[in-house]
Amino acid sequence: MGASGRKRNGFSPGPLPPSMGAAATDAPCIFCEIAARRSPAYVVYEDATTMAFLDLFPFTRGHLLVIPKRHGARLTDLPFDDQTALVRTLDEMCRRSERLTADYNVALNAGAAAGQIVFHVHFHVIPRYGEANPFHPRTRARLEEEEARAVVRELAAG
Ligand code: 5GP
Ligand code: ZN
Repeated sequence: MGASGRKRNGFSPGPLPPSMGAAATDAPCIFCEIAARRSPAYVVYEDATTMAFLDLFPFTRGHLLVIPKRHGARLTDLPFDDQTALVRTLDEMCRRSERLTADYNVALNAGAAAGQIVFHVHFHVIPRYGEANPFHPRTRARLEEEEARAVVRELAAG
């Protein structure tokens, strides 16, 4: 897809623990802001260490992002316990995605060359409804509020 319609904040990580490698900057990381509830998101799941919310520019209805609350650009930047918690939440979100449709993709983009635009690690869970070519999607539109609320109603219950 073209980058023109996409919200491109989140490039710069917030202040990081030294173990996380990347240079600290003053620019807030959008997913840290969402995790701290300082920025809005359509949240479908939250526990002490992880969160899942709707992608603002969904590939399909119910496109979810699953994040650790702790900042790390990549899965390999996270402590093992956070990785484990993240995958547990991913599993739960895959199960909930099946309420919408049986099939889905799970994706993790690591690095700009892999298409990562928000450098706070996240899994995408992308429900699939029979698109002819799921890896070459049409242009993505910004999530509509009414649609988002309907999806949250379907996915937020445990
Ligand atoms: P990446 O390409 O880094 O794997 O995916 C980042 C995803 O985050 C994109 O699909 C993009 O639409 C989504 N995104 C970017 N900014 C925001 C935001 O502020 N809120 C939400 N919910 N999603 C965002
Ligand atoms: Zn972050």
